[in-house]
Amino acid sequence: MVKNTSYGYEYYECSNCGQEVDQLEDYCQTCGHAFQKRTYYISNDKFIAHSFIELTIGSQNTKVILATLENQKLGIRKFVVPDNKQIANRIKFFVINGNRGYLEDGLIQKKLIVLNDFVEISIPINEEQEKVFIHNSLLL
Ligand SMILES: [Zn+2]
Repeated sequence: MVKNTSYGYEYYECSNCGQEVDQLEDYCQTCGHAFQKRTYYISNDKFIAHSFIELTIGSQNTKVILATLENQKLGIRKFVVPDNKQIANRIKFFVINGNRGYLEDGLIQKKLIVLNDFVEISIPINEEQEKVFIHNSLLL
């Protein structure tokens, strides 16, 4: 599978037959050529959204989403994001639309997931301590 760009639109081609393919496919639908594992395509800057749940946390009952995201460098990790932020809407969009989207770093506002905006902490979720990345606006 080869990444290509045309007029700013990124797409992937089968490296065997040149047919445009979905970046998450395991093999080419046209010629049957098998691609390398999907994780190969997840770069350090991009996150794929697997799932999310809505929660309220803290004494203020702040609405958040607990999102399960995957990244090449970090693997599968959980992120706590305020429900009223665009980042939460993006994550929901990608999950609801069949996990096909990547959380790009070049959307309307520069980067969607900026790791510097998150702090890794251990919090109780469903009575078990879990390590999550929590958005720093939630820590104030
Ligand atoms: Zn092919």
